[in-house]
Amino acid sequence: MHEWALSDGMVRAAHKIKMERGLKEVVSITVVLGEVQDIAPDIFTEIFDEVKRQQDGFEGTKLVLEREPAEFRCHQCGEAFHFDRGLLPHEISENIHFVPETLRVYIRCPACQSEDFEIVKGRGIYIKEIVGETGDGLDADTGDVAEGRDAR
Ligand SMILES: [Zn+2]
Repeated sequence: MHEWALSDGMVRAAHKIKMERGLKEVVSITVVLGEVQDIAPDIFTEIFDEVKRQQDGFEGTKLVLEREPAEFRCHQCGEAFHFDRGLLPHEISENIHFVPETLRVYIRCPACQSEDFEIVKGRGIYIKEIVGETGDGLDADTGDVAEGRDAR
């Protein structure tokens, strides 16, 4: 299953970060799911709970999911636009889920009909934040994400 590969890859990436930062336990992982790929949050969570048991230090990890709406910008006329997944036929929606780039076949710039546009936001999935326990207290790393939080 596609979600399985994604969730498994996520835990592996988190494990690498855990080792690099010398964390004993990972308290929480915040993952952003882009609208373009449309990963089902409940399925993702279910698989995550399964996958995390296979990695040391993830037993109690809390998964926080955030959804990022898709945003496109036309290279020809500069129009910024969105799309409504709900309006796409199921089969097309599924194609995009597996291979996000295929959305260029189905979507055009609403202003000039060009297919030459950029996916500005909402593509793929990524780890936004990992909060871990080092043994001396909590350690939060927000990477290049500006909106850090108090993880005291
Ligand atoms: Zn355009």
